[in-house]
Amino acid sequence: MSEERTAIRDAVRDLCARFPDAYWRELDAIGEYPDAFVKALTDAGWLGALIPQAYGGSGLGIADAAAILEEINASGGNAAAAHAQMYTMGSVLRHGSDEQKRRYLPPIAKGELRLQAFGVTEPDAGSETTRLRTVAVRTGDRYVINGQKVFISRAQHSDLMLLLARTTPYDELKDKTQGLSIFLVDLRAATASGQIEIRPLQTMMNHHSTSIFIRDLEVPVADRVGEEGEGFRYIIDSWNAERILIASESIGDGRWFVSRASSYARERKVFARPIGANQGVQFPIAQAHAQIEAASLLRDKAAWLFDRAEKCGAEANMAKLLASQAAWAAANAAIDTYGGYGFAKEYDVERKFRETRLLMVAPISNNLVLAYVGQHVLGMPRSY
Ligand SMILES: Cc1cc2nc3c(=O)[nH]c(=O)nc-3n(C[C@H](O)[C@H](O)[C@H](O)COP(=O)(O)OP(=O)(O)OC[C@H]3O[C@@H](n4cnc5c(N)ncnc54)[C@H](O)[C@@H]3O)c2cc1C
Repeated sequence: MSEERTAIRDAVRDLCARFPDAYWRELDAIGEYPDAFVKALTDAGWLGALIPQAYGGSGLGIADAAAILEEINASGGNAAAAHAQMYTMGSVLRHGSDEQKRRYLPPIAKGELRLQAFGVTEPDAGSETTRLRTVAVRTGDRYVINGQKVFISRAQHSDLMLLLARTTPYDELKDKTQGLSIFLVDLRAATASGQIEIRPLQTMMNHHSTSIFIRDLEVPVADRVGEEGEGFRYIIDSWNAERILIASESIGDGRWFVSRASSYARERKVFARPIGANQGVQFPIAQAHAQIEAASLLRDKAAWLFDRAEKCGAEANMAKLLASQAAWAAANAAIDTYGGYGFAKEYDVERKFRETRLLMVAPISNNLVLAYVGQHVLGMPRSY
């Protein structure tokens, strides 16, 4: 690991030490957003990590962003509160115009604007994104958008949303990945005018997901990212970034579970010896540790490819698959190691257990990752 990367990890770890287990546990209990933590991350410049220095950011790469989010989750926190600000950059930096970058990136880097919402999923279009029905119709210098999104996280804690909408009817397309476009939406103005309604959606984690209702939302053509109809191709750059970053959060979770479980296993005595002396306790923790190390190497490869703008879909997807499975193995090893105390909120294992389970399903379910690998990497028959 380079000295710079080690310094980033040390600095993020120091920042996270100011937000101990109790901070996250209390917010989880009352379902509140970690405002103070996100502000500290922003003030320290970590959420602007990927923004080029010319626009006031740190100009770091996805490998650095991965290290930042991994450390947050390894500290016992949850990077889901803020990670979208990083993966949305995959589309904005590669496909946004110079004018859009000049307008949006400096205030995002300073923390004056938050780009924390990523509006893709709809009630009838989760895994099958190309079925989405939110429609954007161009009239002169603006689009009028109507539709509904679901599970859109952090919309109530964001000023902007990167929105994927249909600009050509599905039935008129030969290639179903065409006909979608992406827009930068001013959430504050749209909610104030009633063009967007955001309703909180309770989930099993403290995740701030919402349903979004879009009614005659007007978006200037100047806020369309890239060309009309090419949105699916652009959003893949955010998805690959997201898979690498989610893999990193899983790796961080996994490291937290392994660290807590192995210390508990060293200390807890049953039948007059530490429970960690029993292979039934020790081996699942060691197995999970090995899985996390392997997933971390594949995540590093995916990030290396992404930062060179090389094809990384297979590696990013496989890293997400293996990392989320490794974290889940570690979560189960930890909850077994803690026995009944694994279920007691004050030990935080049950909170992290809920948080890490999500990453096998969202932002893409592991079934869909396997289908991608089977069909696109290995050339087997398609299920979709
Ligand atoms: C807490 C939370 C936060 C989220 N945040 C966001 C967000 O900020 N923005 C956003 O856009 N979305 C977000 N999502 C949505 C998430 O990306 C979707 O839930 C996910 O893509 C799965 O879509 P779905 O829930 O509609 O499942 P479906 O597509 O209905 O799939 C249901 C099940 O069927 C399986 N399946 C479907 N097709 C196949 C196949 N061909 N082969 C094998 N299995 C298959 C899937 O694996 C899955 O297990 C979030 C979800 C959650 C739970």
